[in-house]
Amino acid sequence: MSTARDARRIVLKVGSSTLTHPTGHINIRLMEQLVRVMSDLKNAGRELVLVSSGAIAVGVGKLGLRQRPGDIPGKQAAAAVGQCELMYLYDRYFSEYNHTVGQVLLTNYSLCRPESRENVRNTFEALLGLGVIPVVNENDTVATDEIRVGDNDTLSAIVAQVTGADCLIILSDIDGLYTKNPADHADAALVEEVRVIDDALFATAGGAGSARGTGGMITKLRAAQIVQRAGGDTYIINGKTPGRLYDLLEGAKVGTHFVGGGCV
Ligand code: GLU
Repeated sequence: MSTARDARRIVLKVGSSTLTHPTGHINIRLMEQLVRVMSDLKNAGRELVLVSSGAIAVGVGKLGLRQRPGDIPGKQAAAAVGQCELMYLYDRYFSEYNHTVGQVLLTNYSLCRPESRENVRNTFEALLGLGVIPVVNENDTVATDEIRVGDNDTLSAIVAQVTGADCLIILSDIDGLYTKNPADHADAALVEEVRVIDDALFATAGGAGSARGTGGMITKLRAAQIVQRAGGDTYIINGKTPGRLYDLLEGAKVGTHFVGGGCV
């Protein structure tokens, strides 16, 4: 087990609601800040993998649709358009700091079968060995509902496992896990450390995500549980200020820390 300060290989996950404005268009300032901080962390010797949502949200914005399509082909079409735009922007912004990105689109199918999972692992190793920052998403254009991973919180936990990462950091639109839903309860308090992820914790975590994203706190807890069972640490921090990543990685208490190796 290693804490964020000691972590060498880190998987970062950023969600649609953090990365986009309510219009569905990219939050350019946030993306630029995130890329800048990540570039600096990489310069300091960390190995980074970014799991980025936003393909569907950005596609919706780019296509001028008034809302997220409800049907699968509509979502897949939006993802096809949005994924291009996302990668174009990551490529452009990371290039400004002399970093190279590689797109990795995964399916549940490729992660479940041992052979293809091994291929995926080897590809990540090769990319990281070349100094590339892999940018990962689910391959939304081919994954159908029955076989989807479905949300990028879970996908990021699987990626953390496959890459043997030291920790997973989920950049959310909330400061971390609260004792109650802070939108409804003024006395809700941030939980700084979680050792046991059990049913009672899931019960406090409440409902689904926003209009632009898929997850919510439940999928984040599930992700933390997958990582914890593999002996790793997960941090949920507010992604609106990417600079907080510096504090976290310097050992400060930021957001919620799900301690690795906890007994579930
Ligand atoms: N893969 C989806 C996208 O990029 C997002 C899934 C999620 O929000 O968790 O739009």
